[in-house]
Amino acid sequence: MLFQPPIAASYSTLSIDEIGVQIRKHKQNLGERLVILGHHYQQDDVLAFADFTGDSLKLSQIAARQRSAEFVVFCGVHFMAESADILTDDSVRVILPDLSAGCSMADMAALDQLEDAWAFLSESSEGTVIPITYVNSAASIKAFCGEHGGACCTSSNAAMVLQWAFDQGDKVIFLPDQHLGRNTAYAMGHPLDAMVVFDPKEPNGGLTASQANDAKVILWKGHCSVHQLFNAAQCDTIREQDPDRKILVHPECNWDVVQKADLTGSTEFIINTIQDAPKHSKWAIGTEVHLVNRLAKTHTDKDVQSLATIQCLCTTMYRISPTQLLWSLDELASGNVANQISVTPDVKRWAVVALERMLDNVAAAPVASAQSVD
Ligand code: SF4
Repeated sequence: MLFQPPIAASYSTLSIDEIGVQIRKHKQNLGERLVILGHHYQQDDVLAFADFTGDSLKLSQIAARQRSAEFVVFCGVHFMAESADILTDDSVRVILPDLSAGCSMADMAALDQLEDAWAFLSESSEGTVIPITYVNSAASIKAFCGEHGGACCTSSNAAMVLQWAFDQGDKVIFLPDQHLGRNTAYAMGHPLDAMVVFDPKEPNGGLTASQANDAKVILWKGHCSVHQLFNAAQCDTIREQDPDRKILVHPECNWDVVQKADLTGSTEFIINTIQDAPKHSKWAIGTEVHLVNRLAKTHTDKDVQSLATIQCLCTTMYRISPTQLLWSLDELASGNVANQISVTPDVKRWAVVALERMLDNVAAAPVASAQSVD
């Protein structure tokens, strides 16, 4: 995780209204030179200033279209800002308002670990292995996948990208989220015993050569610390207490949660499902709490609650506060591009390949990848 030096103490004396006035002034002064992007898991006080909101795929695509903007301020986490830098023109500078806004899942896959895994799989596996990385990964991991015939995916398009990978080769190593990989491959018809978990902390991932060779899908041992908080017992409790309430979860949840859910899909799928749901319908949602609370507030004609009784909060995303946003804009206004996220040209070159393979797949087959397990 990167370190964010503390900002001036005077910022802490500003009220939320004063912060808002100053952010809006910067936006007005910078005009079209500035674009603020906000991920759905951000707090409402930050999203109030976003020009665009979305999930990681949508924001990456929007960032790629901002050819006239000079500055993209990404209210998300580090890997998202990297993806924006990879996809935008070199003239666009991408800023992350707080450098410590990382992603614990992305941090679970380091390049040297992937290189070791690749060497082991190359020795132990017959046939072609295709590396697929969830976009929630470092740019260096994306670049590795691009250079070795693989691609990126998001939770919206994981099934499409996995199908593409199986068309290219014999097996897949999927990282860093074992749950998205397992849930997606299982929904596509691959049985659990065709999958193994590669633990990067163990020699050879904790696998024998024959286990690696026999597997169709090699799942990296990584997870989302937020979606990991949902469990099967919570689903059972909802079923007992309120059988009419539908359970809708993100595919970063554990396999047993997904099996017990009525519907599983990406952040955009969750939003669209609630938007289109009948009046008075009841929902328990397994995803980040800011999004669940926003859906409950927006759709007052429906009964929306979290699947968990504890607060499932993305703490790193939460580091992007209105105060940090104002600080980064103040720096910009004074001529200092603070917290610029830039990916080196050699990494960018291959990461672009991995991201474009994903975007080409989406363009070729714009089909929702939500899985129903009814
Ligand atoms: S919700 Fe999970 S995957 Fe998304 S940024 Fe937070 S830790 Fe990473």
